[in-house]
Amino acid sequence: MNLILLGAPGAGKGTQAEIISNKLSIPSISTGNIIREAIKTGTDMGKKAQEFVNAGKLVPDDVVIGIIKERLSKDDCKNGFILDGFPRTIPQAEALDKMGVRIDKVISIEVPDEKIVERMSGRRVCENCGASYHIKYKKPLVEGKCDLCDGNLIRRKDDDPETVLERLRVYHVETKPLKDYYQKTGKLRIVEGQEEVADTTRLTLQALEN
Ligand code: AMP
Repeated sequence: MNLILLGAPGAGKGTQAEIISNKLSIPSISTGNIIREAIKTGTDMGKKAQEFVNAGKLVPDDVVIGIIKERLSKDDCKNGFILDGFPRTIPQAEALDKMGVRIDKVISIEVPDEKIVERMSGRRVCENCGASYHIKYKKPLVEGKCDLCDGNLIRRKDDDPETVLERLRVYHVETKPLKDYYQKTGKLRIVEGQEEVADTTRLTLQALEN
């Protein structure tokens, strides 16, 4: 199954992408994680992307399209994949179509803006592996430590309140129009994000079946 997860930053698409990835044994591909890793290791792409990410802006389309082209060409995508955070603009969606990539379902996880701001303030990520947690909704087993690799949990730079507002603004202007784009193909399914991760997962799995 080839899936796209749409949604505002902090709507929980990353968490759902990981859960579905494990359930269906298909890779979850997060352009945000790929970009953050490139920034951390200081590659040319990372250097180009850094100022956009830190300001809560989108990285230019040609850069992310290049990332996705390369990633989707890998063998592990042959049986399906989940795109988490791509496409985020109409030109990115068109590029995917031009590449001849078949998409089966597009799940839009929806959470009201006020909730997003609250959620983002409690979000923590592992500085080592990038796994995502929340101080209220998805607590690690040991406070401040990653369940997977024992790395330290930190707040992402672009999760500070001012940058979150800019990311939300960008979502409404650039990414939300993708709902119409995929509605027209009949592949769009809306999932209302719930307080409990497991409840959102149940709705997401239901949406995949219809
Ligand atoms: P995320 O972790 O998905 O919220 O992504 C973090 C940041 O990476 C975003 O705020 C953008 O700056 C950048 N980014 C990730 N995916 C994309 C994309 N598809 N298009 C443009 N920028 C992206």
